[in-house]
Amino acid sequence: MAKTVSAIEISADLLQRLHRIHRQINDLQGQIDRGPRKIAAGEAMVQKCRQAVVDAGDTIKRTSLLADQRQKQLAEREDRIETLRGKLNAAASNREYDSFKEQIAADEQANSVLSDEILELLERIDQLELERQQRQTELDQRLGEQQQLIAEVEQQSTSLKHDLATVQAERAEAEALIPAGARAEYNRLVSARGEEALAPVDNETCGGCYQKLTTQFINQIMLNQLVRCPNCNAFLYRRNAG
Ligand SMILES: [Zn+2]
Repeated sequence: MAKTVSAIEISADLLQRLHRIHRQINDLQGQIDRGPRKIAAGEAMVQKCRQAVVDAGDTIKRTSLLADQRQKQLAEREDRIETLRGKLNAAASNREYDSFKEQIAADEQANSVLSDEILELLERIDQLELERQQRQTELDQRLGEQQQLIAEVEQQSTSLKHDLATVQAERAEAEALIPAGARAEYNRLVSARGEEALAPVDNETCGGCYQKLTTQFINQIMLNQLVRCPNCNAFLYRRNAG
């Protein structure tokens, strides 16, 4: 096993610090990125509630239209009954009289059925109106929650960005201490892998990929030499208990 970077000395504390900094950056960035996703999820819920109100309104409109049609039918038939009643007195024969009577009875029967149907439709409209109001209340509630969420996310984001700037400043300070000979490789690895560019050694094993390390590697790490994991390429460091 050849050394990947030969005998560059680097402080274990510095590597541990850099690893901690990269973990913090990753964590803060993750929290910042989750903000807009939370808002978008909330917005989808608002949209769903808004659609439910529109749908409820459409159902009321359709049912009202049907009720209007039925009422018009009822009125037309009532007019016809009136006309037939007028004709009763002018009937030319008993047969004609009976015929008018039968027509009146049939129309009255039909209108009785229609009246029941209209009553049911009107009751249904009242019920639908209550449901629409319920959907509207849900929408208003959801809109309030969404406003609150946006305010919370904005507040958190401001605080998180402030923390991130602090950690980034600390990162620049720590990275200035990286030996010149290791800097290019460090930069390349960090930009590709982020916090996984560094790994502690735990029980002679790489803390990043759990590869068992040879005694030669362990000895080099103990001498504060810069060592890369032969498996995952991470910069290895001896963990400091403090
Ligand atoms: Zn590894």
